[in-house]
Amino acid sequence: MLSIKNLRVSIDGKEILKGINLEVRPGEVHAIMGPNGTGKSTLASVIAGRDIFEIEEGEILYKGKNLLEMAVEDRASEGIFLGFQYPVEIPGVSITNFMRTAVNEQRKYHGLDPMPANEFLAKMEEKKRMLDIHAKLANRSVNEGFSGGEKKKNEIFQMAMLEPSLAILDETDSGLDIDALKVVAGGVNKLRRPDNAFLVITHYQRLLEYIVPDIVHVLFDGRIVRSGGKELAMELEEKGYEWIRSEA
Ligand code: ADP
Ligand code: MG
Ligand code: MG
Repeated sequence: MLSIKNLRVSIDGKEILKGINLEVRPGEVHAIMGPNGTGKSTLASVIAGRDIFEIEEGEILYKGKNLLEMAVEDRASEGIFLGFQYPVEIPGVSITNFMRTAVNEQRKYHGLDPMPANEFLAKMEEKKRMLDIHAKLANRSVNEGFSGGEKKKNEIFQMAMLEPSLAILDETDSGLDIDALKVVAGGVNKLRRPDNAFLVITHYQRLLEYIVPDIVHVLFDGRIVRSGGKELAMELEEKGYEWIRSEA
């Protein structure tokens, strides 16, 4: 699904990612943990294609294709989903219309006609039921006046509608309240399939009590300094990041 080899990335001449290696296979959930400022969001942004970064070295293969040569606007159509750490508000655009546009853009890319209205609405209903989302939320403008929990619900709803192959969820460093945490985790658990994969980025171990990852990586100062099973998240929670810092 995703193969990152010796990825070195800088911004304004400052090296942020210092040789990342990562292999994600279909069906896997990987967690990336690490202290603040170590490059977690940078990694997510580079995969999604934000172009403020300079790729100094390395490669990213996504489904065997050279991702770094793939146009940014095509990456979503190719099945990459990035949940925003700070979701934008789009006043005047309902979630329903926003989602219809997103779904149809993706279909167009694959040479398909727009989804018939009844089919689209049925799909919305199915996903709403699955994620336990209120009908009212879908009629509101995207993120306008949403609580943190509602923004997360909307994000997971978008993910459910777009059915990505690779979903990257970058959580805020301040942490989510318990309701939002359960929305995110419940969504991921319901959407897990043998043919998709998740990269869950989190500063805290708490989220991983609800989403049980297959593999946990610790990112420290631009490098993955340790990888292991879900017990590694527990170990980090107990010993804190100072333990990693002293080892690194
Ligand atoms: P994390 O998500 O692990 O907290 P980030 O990827 O956000 O870390 O940041 C890693 C480093 O890159 C930090 O030192 C941060 O200051 C720097 N950085 C991130 N984005 C920018 C930017 N747009 N301009 C300058 N420096 C940045
Ligand atoms: Mg940060
Ligand atoms: Mg971050």
